[in-house]
Amino acid sequence: MELHKLTIKETYEGLKKKKFSSLELTRVFLEKIEKEDKKLGAFINLSPEIALNTAKRIDEKIENGEDLSPLAGIPMAVKDNILVEGERCTAGSKILENYTAVYDACVVERLKKAGAVILGKTNMDEFAMGSSGENSGFFPTKNPHNESRVPGGSSSGSAAAVAASFTVYALGSDTGGSIRQPASFCGVVGFKPTYGAVSRFGLIAMASSLDQIGPITKTVDDARTVFNVIKGKDQMDSTSVESKIQNPKSPAPEPLARYGAGKIQNLRIGVPREYFVKGIDSKVENVVKKAIDKARELGAKIEEISLPHTEYAIACYYIIMSSEVSANLARYDGIKFGYSAFSKNAHNLLDVYLKSRQEGFGDEPKRRIMLGTYALSAGYYEAYYLRAQKVRSLIKKDFEESFKKIDLILTPTCPTTAFRLGEKIKDPLSMYLSDVFTVPINLAGLPAVSVSCGKAGGLPVGLQVIGPWFKEERIFDFAKLFEQTLNL
Ligand code: GLN
Repeated sequence: MELHKLTIKETYEGLKKKKFSSLELTRVFLEKIEKEDKKLGAFINLSPEIALNTAKRIDEKIENGEDLSPLAGIPMAVKDNILVEGERCTAGSKILENYTAVYDACVVERLKKAGAVILGKTNMDEFAMGSSGENSGFFPTKNPHNESRVPGGSSSGSAAAVAASFTVYALGSDTGGSIRQPASFCGVVGFKPTYGAVSRFGLIAMASSLDQIGPITKTVDDARTVFNVIKGKDQMDSTSVESKIQNPKSPAPEPLARYGAGKIQNLRIGVPREYFVKGIDSKVENVVKKAIDKARELGAKIEEISLPHTEYAIACYYIIMSSEVSANLARYDGIKFGYSAFSKNAHNLLDVYLKSRQEGFGDEPKRRIMLGTYALSAGYYEAYYLRAQKVRSLIKKDFEESFKKIDLILTPTCPTTAFRLGEKIKDPLSMYLSDVFTVPINLAGLPAVSVSCGKAGGLPVGLQVIGPWFKEERIFDFAKLFEQTLNL
C-alpha cells in the first residue's frame, strides 16, 4: 500500500483497522519530504519532533480503543501565515524570518484538539500577495506536474505539497483566490468557505474583509471533513459566526437532498457569460465547457446568467485589498515584530521604522502598501476607496440577484493553466489578471471550491463551483457527485 497516496477518509479507515500506525505514516511523509522537497520547495519549515510525538500519542489512543476524530493521527501541513505556537511563522517574508508564534491560531487549536499531526509550514507568496509562489521571500515553489511551471499562489506550498503527496491535506488562506487558483494549477481540491464561517484569529492579516482560511485536499469529501472541524464561531474573531450549515431544523431541504443521492434533476446551475470572454485560454474554455455538459448530462438545468459588474472586480479588489494591506502591514515597524534595523544602521526612531520596512519587505508588499496608502489618502479617499466599496456592493448584488433563480454557479477557476516560472513576474498587471475569476467571490464573501475537471496541454484545469452564502454543503454535494462522475 502506498501510504502517501491515501485520502483523509482512507487514512482514517487504515488507522482504525490498524493496517498501519500514525507513527509509521508520519515517518513516510517526513522521509518523502526530506528526499523530494529540495527540488519542489513546498515547505519552509518542518516540525518532525512535534509530528512524531503527536503520532505516538494518537497511536496510544488507538491501542486503547478510544473514539477518534476523523482527522486524528493524520499528517497535514499549515500555510506559513497561520500561527502554530512555538513554531516559526514567516508569512513568506524576510521581515518575519525569525518570528516565533506565541499562540495557536483558532483553526490550529481545533485541529490539534482533533489529533491532527502537523508536519510543518508551507511556502507562500510574501504576506499572501501573489498568484505564482514566486513572491516568496525565500525561494519559489515548483508545480509537481511540471517543474518548469508555477504551482499558483499564494498558497503555493500547500497546493504543491498535496499534489506531490507530501501530506494528506493542507491549510491555505484565500483573499482573492489563493486557495482555489493554486488548487486549480496543481490539480487538487481547494475550498474557500463563506466569509465568517471560519475564524481568522491567528491568521497573519492581509486584507481583513476578504481573508478566509480553508482546506486544500485530494478529494471533495476530505475538504468537507476538514471544514467541519475548523468552522464555527470563535470569540476571538468577531466576524466569525456559528455555522448555519446542517441545521437540523432548517425548513428548506438542500436541492441535492431533495432528489436523492446521485441525482441532480432540477438543480439549477448558472453559467455567467462574463466568465467566458476574451483572455481566457481556449483550451481551458473547452475543458470547462465539457465539464458543464457533464453536469447537464447528470440532469442539472444549465442556464446562462449575467453578472454585469464582473469587469470591475479586479480594479475594485486591488483598491480595497491594497488599502487594507497598507493598514494591516503598518505593524511591521522594526519595533513590535520581526526584523529590525535597530542597532544595525538606524540612528533614530524614524530611521528604525523606515529602514526596517525598506530592508524587510519585498517588492510586492511595498507596491501594495504604496497603492493602498494613496487610495486612502485625504483627497483621494472618495475617488478610490469609497468608490471601490460602492462597486463591491454592486458585485455582491449581482450574485444576490442570481441566487434568487439558481442554486449554484459554475465557472473556470482560472483563465489559464499553470504558467512558466518567470513568465509573469516582471509584469504585475498580467499576474493580477490571473485572479479575474476568483476575486469577485471574495468581494461578495461567498463560498466556492475548485475541483479538477480535466487537463489542457498536459496541465490540470479547475472548475469553480460557487454557492450562496453558508451553503457549503450544497457545494460539497455537487462537487462530490461531479468528481465521481469524472472518475468513472
Ligand atoms: N493572487 C491574489 C493577490 O495577489 C490573491 C491573493 C490571496 O488570495 N491571498 O492578491
